[in-house]
Amino acid sequence: MRILVVEDDPSQVAILFHAFDKPGYTVVHERDGKRADHLLITHEFDVVILDMGLPGMDGAEILRRLRHRKNNVPVLILTARDEVEDRVRGLDMGADDYLTKPFDIQELEARVRSLIRRGHSGGAAQLQVGSLKLDTAGRLATLNGQTLELSSRELNVLELLMLSAGRIVSKERLSDQLSGLDDLVSDNAIEVYVSRLRKHLKASGINIRTLRGLGYMLEKQ
Ligand code: CA
Repeated sequence: MRILVVEDDPSQVAILFHAFDKPGYTVVHERDGKRADHLLITHEFDVVILDMGLPGMDGAEILRRLRHRKNNVPVLILTARDEVEDRVRGLDMGADDYLTKPFDIQELEARVRSLIRRGHSGGAAQLQVGSLKLDTAGRLATLNGQTLELSSRELNVLELLMLSAGRIVSKERLSDQLSGLDDLVSDNAIEVYVSRLRKHLKASGINIRTLRGLGYMLEKQ
């Protein structure tokens, strides 16, 4: 897996190199925005980790140009906690995910793995667990071929759980991913979404298990 890291802060770069210093990953680093833009034209990557504030060309512009070229490589943007506008711009420009600095290394790895998985299925994933299918591009979930009537947030919760099927997804991760730019999703709200999803999945052989204090896990019985 080739990961392009575009980041000008040496301490962050060191953390990222450390995170992916394992078999199967090759990390290419570039600190300058313009050179990163050029690299993205001339080389292929499986995922891009993109800082927003960069010398030469900022992250949002790199992303805008990338998507303008119809390049759908998965992009995870890194922003500081107080750079909400950067995050908005990044997501508007077509970022697939974001993390706020300082981030947890395991969280970062999990996000990158899931982006790579999605990227390999052609940008938008067709997820399947048993008879449950989710078309993430068409935003359509079906169970045994029957469409499930789900709200946008319920679909988001389902997608996150399906992406990590058989593994625990923490409430923090769910609330972080679901929280929009202007509203926060509380733990209580997540419990409500999960309980609604459970109703839809009743008697399907697919279960959303609660692991107290840890989170949720979607599994096939
Ligand atoms: Ca920076």
